[in-house]
This record gives sequence, structure tokens and C-alpha cells, in this order.
Amino acid sequence: MDIPCTIAEIKCLGWSEVDIVLVSGDALIDTPHSGVAVVARVLLNAGYRVGVICQPRTNTTDDILRLGIPRLFWGVTAGCVDSLVANRTATGKPRRSDDFTPGGENNRRPDRASIVYANLIRRACRPCPLLVLGGVEASLRRIAHFDYWSNSVRRPLLFDAKADAIVYGMAERGVVGLADALRDGSEWRNLPGLCYAAAEVPAKAVELPAYDVLSGREGERDGKRAFMEMFRIFAANQEPATAQLLAQRIDTRWLIHNPPAQPLEGFELDKLHRLPFTHTVHPHDASQGEVRALTTVQFSLAAHRGCYGECSFCAIAMHQGRRVTWRSHKSLVAEAQRYTRHPAFKGVISDVSGPTANMYGYECSRKKSAGACSDKSCLYPTVCEALPVDHRPQLELLQKLRSIDGVRHVFVASGLRPDLIEADKVHGDSYIEQLCRHHVSGQLKLAPEHSEPSVLSLMRKPEIEGVLRFRRKFEEKSRTVGKRQYLTYYFIAAHPGCTESDMIELRKFAQKRLQLNPEQVQIFTPTPSTWATAIWWTGLDPESGNEVFVERREGARQRQKDLLVERLQQRRK
Ligand code: SF4
Repeated sequence: MDIPCTIAEIKCLGWSEVDIVLVSGDALIDTPHSGVAVVARVLLNAGYRVGVICQPRTNTTDDILRLGIPRLFWGVTAGCVDSLVANRTATGKPRRSDDFTPGGENNRRPDRASIVYANLIRRACRPCPLLVLGGVEASLRRIAHFDYWSNSVRRPLLFDAKADAIVYGMAERGVVGLADALRDGSEWRNLPGLCYAAAEVPAKAVELPAYDVLSGREGERDGKRAFMEMFRIFAANQEPATAQLLAQRIDTRWLIHNPPAQPLEGFELDKLHRLPFTHTVHPHDASQGEVRALTTVQFSLAAHRGCYGECSFCAIAMHQGRRVTWRSHKSLVAEAQRYTRHPAFKGVISDVSGPTANMYGYECSRKKSAGACSDKSCLYPTVCEALPVDHRPQLELLQKLRSIDGVRHVFVASGLRPDLIEADKVHGDSYIEQLCRHHVSGQLKLAPEHSEPSVLSLMRKPEIEGVLRFRRKFEEKSRTVGKRQYLTYYFIAAHPGCTESDMIELRKFAQKRLQLNPEQVQIFTPTPSTWATAIWWTGLDPESGNEVFVERREGARQRQKDLLVERLQQRRK
């Protein structure tokens, strides 16, 4: 059964009304890789009547009211990525194409989509049932945050959208808990993984610096040190086992930030992936044109969640958490077998992964009960000795997947961490050998991001020599198995702390040591809720409190990228 998106589908199911309407800035791709599809499937499975409205027109209320007014709540998401990231480049120019829109033209998702859709609902629906935000945009803008596109500190999204709550992080537990509480008429405000607004601050809450202080309207002149302090407290309270209730004063009211929900355990992920996803674009959206994002995820396997990397420029730890949980071999093999029966399957599993490819099947034992360490990082500056790195579970999984009848290739397409492979003294080398022999579709992705120690340190990335050691082994094994395949390197220009001289050094490194053209160079974008964005806005090193160089001039940011890309292109000519 398709997730209902039209009134005809609702009628066909014999429903007189819906309990929950989910509104999304993306087309509906019914796979476990799409947040709105997962939330809809989980709620349907829990017995709720759910409908989804994708990319509603915002100059009329016709689309938003298409399924009627929900009995329990509206759920609003901007889509798989923040709407400003989806709609604008790192230098602020509009993006013309969009893989999540039918037909591929970027003309359906408004900037600040969560706010626009919430306002649309408020206009169309009075009285309005509970209005709840979720997804990456709301999750990472859940407290006061720096907004690059307006170059200002903005209030928590809840306040600007005039919503009742945010379900942050991976939302399965939160949305079902919320629906149950609303159905039963019980209190929903104390659910883990939720933010809401209140008139008073609860007695036991830890106070974050107030919005007025951050925005320079009260007390400290420009609020920069208070901002860094806010982010430090926020980041330190993202472990479900240890997090405290947080509160932040926003004008005369308070944002209340409950501790995060526990991540889904492996058996719960298995159960989630047994739900009847169709692995296609919903017919309502498909009839309007091709949705290109489907190609990337249609036959890929999500093996695990969470990341212990904590790179400064990445918000995955704030959204999915630092604890990695993974699905069983049985569940992944069963899903791959289902793929082989899908009419569109051509025998290729395009990826077996999570946020980082080689974090499957091992985790530090203290995290579940005591939470991840607050005073040290699992991978930076080196891999923590308490992390029992072991690639054997993934090796066995890949072997099982490629033995399935009807599967011709199983690729590992997501980026992987060479430092973890090197830390695995028992299976690290066979992991490289098996990757080279069976699982590289021409290119394997690595994300060293930079070469210079001062920049890598602010990025919280390991030293670059590890990448070179991995490269030597990768090339050697590729030769041994008789394959011509390559490494693709991802780099970031204009990260906080990075100067033009650092980019010149990176260029020399790329020319002399890699002897390759790094085509994947991004200009750093200060997206909400990352350490790098906190550094970008405050100009402060979070550890020492010292000032850090930050390139904020658009022309100079572009020049940093050009220093790497153009010179190398000239050299190639
Ligand atoms: S002991 Fe090491 S691996 Fe475990 S949570 Fe702490 S830093 Fe991470």
C-alpha cells in the first residue's frame, strides 16, 4: 500500500478523517532513507491514520487542506535537508536543480520551508490541532542558532514558526509517543526528544544563555562568548544517558529542550526496515516528473545509524547521536532479497552504509549506560582504545549480500574512515582487500577535508598521513586483484582557521603527494548546530577561547576554492 497522499487514497482506505497530516518540502520517496516516509510508516504501523502532503503550493490553501484537518497533529518538515542548504549554494546563489522535486527544477520548496508551511497551516486551519516540526531543518535549529543566510543569530525555529513543539533527532520514538499521548489525553511535554515553549522555566532545568544576550541586545556587547558557551552546554547534553533538561529564555518566554530520546536499538531498526516501504516515488509525485534522488537510494541498504566521528563541520552527532546502532545480518539480507524481487532492480546494491561506511557492528560498551565521554572524543585526535574496532561483522555481511541469487554487485559508496581501518589490526587489511576485490564501483570516497594540521585540528579530523598510508594499501590491493579503480578525495575550502596559504599548501599536497585532481572541493557553509559554525560566528576556538581566523568575505571564500581547483585544472591542461 502506498502512503496516502490524495483524498482518493484516503477514501479507498475507508477513512472518514486522518489522525495526522505530515507536510514535506520534498517529493515522497517511500524508502527508509526518507525521514517523512519513515515517520509515516512508523505511525501507520502503530495504527494511526496518516496522510502526507508534499511540496504544497504556498499561495493557496488548497494543497495543504487536501486531506482535511488532522484529528491529532500536523507534522511539518522542510525535507531531507535544511531548505536554505537545498535552495542556495555556499555563496548564497539560488540552486537551479533539485533532486527531491519532480522534474528536477528547484521551484517547489520555499526558503525556510518549516516556517512557511507552519504559517500556511495556521492561516488555513482555525482552530488548529497541535503543530509539530521535525526533520533536519527543525532539529538543527532547535535552540537559538547562527543563520548564515541572514548573518544573524535567530531564535529557535519553534518561535519563528509559531509551532507547538519540535520532535528533534531521529523521530520514531518521539512521534509515536506524541500521537499516543494526544490520543490518550495525557501529558506530552515531558517526552524525550522534544522541545516546546513555556511561560516559566522548570526548576531543574539547566539554563542556556538567553537569546537577548546572544544577539547582543542584553549584557555582553556582541554575545559571541555567550554563544560559544551556549553551544558547549547544548553539545554536552546530547547523550540520552546523561543529558539534562535545558531551557533558554527567548524574549519573555522559554524554550524547553528535553533530553534526547534513546536511539533505536538494532532489533528496532530491523523491525523498522520490515515495514512495507515501496522503494519508489509515490505515484502522485511520480506523475509530475522524475525524482532523481530515488536513484541514489532505491536499492541501497542503510546498515547503521549514528556516528562517533564528531567532525566539527558535521551535525550528524547532534541529529543521530554519537552512539552507533546497527541492523542484523538477517534483516539486511532479507531486505536485499526483497530488492531482487523488485521490478526495477538490476542486480546492483548501490551502497551498504550509514553516515560513515565502516562503523558497522562495533561500539564502545560504556555509551549505552553511561553515555559517550564528555571530555574526550572517540576518534580525535586518534582512535580511542576503548572503541573495539572490528570490521569482521561488515566483512561477513558483505560476503552474505554478494552471495544472494540475483545480486550481481554490492558496492560501498559512502565515505569511510581510514583511521578505523588502520586501528583494526586483525581485519583491517582484509577489509581493504575485500573492498578492492568486490565493493568499489570505480571510485571509493575518502574525506580528508584538508592537509594542514592547524585546519585539521579545528575540523577535528585525523592527521593526513593516515590517508596516504591507506592509499598505498588501496592501490596495492587493487593491483593485486587486477582492477583499475580510484580514490576520490573530498576537501573543504574556507573552513574556520583556513587561510589562502593553507589552501596553497593543500594544493602542493594534492599535486605532490596525491598526484590527483581533487574535484570534490566544497566551500564551507556554516549550517546550524555544528562546532565549525559556532567558530565561524564567534571567531573563537572552543577549546582555548582564543581568537581564530575566519574567512567571511564571499570573494575570498571562492578564491580559496579556486586556488585548489583552477590551478589543478590548468595543470591538467
Ligand atoms: S571511552 Fe572512548 S570510545 Fe568510549 S565513549 Fe569515551 S571516547 Fe568514545
